[in-house]
Amino acid sequence: MSEQENLKNYLMKLGTSKVGFADVDGLAKQFIDLPNGISLVLKLPKETIQLVKNEEYEEYWKSFHRAIGQLTKISHKGERYIKSLGYDAFALTMKRNECDMEKLLSILPYKTIATKAGLGWIGRSALFVTPEYGSAVALGAILTDMPLEHDMPITDSECDDCTNCQEACPVGAINPQKWNDRLNRDDIIDIETCGEYIIEQYKAGLGCTKCMSECKLTQEYLNK
Ligand code: SF4
Ligand code: SF4
Repeated sequence: MSEQENLKNYLMKLGTSKVGFADVDGLAKQFIDLPNGISLVLKLPKETIQLVKNEEYEEYWKSFHRAIGQLTKISHKGERYIKSLGYDAFALTMKRNECDMEKLLSILPYKTIATKAGLGWIGRSALFVTPEYGSAVALGAILTDMPLEHDMPITDSECDDCTNCQEACPVGAINPQKWNDRLNRDDIIDIETCGEYIIEQYKAGLGCTKCMSECKLTQEYLNK
């Protein structure tokens, strides 16, 4: 088995639901020496989605943060594993992938790495969507200079005619335009309207992840 296959098996054994390999060369000047991205997808437990449906947001966020904690541990272990092979590696944890709170954009978005690794696409909702779990996923990544064969990127939405998330959005923040990798985020979602609504809800002890829970493919995952 190749070094790359062994690495993938190792990451899957740690509990990752999907692993893919992407060319991220030149996407972020901070990580210029690490041209390969390993995308890590962790499915959220079905019970976590149920919490959103029941509007138990406090419990939902606890569960979501547990998933992020799990991904952080996996990416650090992956970093150590790759370094033990003699390559450089960098676990791109949330702490290290700083988010510009005005633009609501991280240095190297996990969604970009994941679409380039062919693990899914950006839904109408601007969330990352997988065929297996819908948008009920958390994302992580490791960057490395380890030579890796890249997976085939996904460059166009596979949402087809579905508009479930658009219809479920309480503030009409989701545009009809379907994603492709030539568009900007503003073309598919009004992030300010969404962000303002979420903050308002948060202050009331609530939240909004309706576009995630009502995604057609999230629903299919729940019913499996
Ligand atoms: S999080 Fe809520 S407000 Fe924002 S796009 Fe999704 S459904 Fe709309
Ligand atoms: S609900 Fe439908 S349109 Fe929205 S992200 Fe999911 S599959 Fe795509």
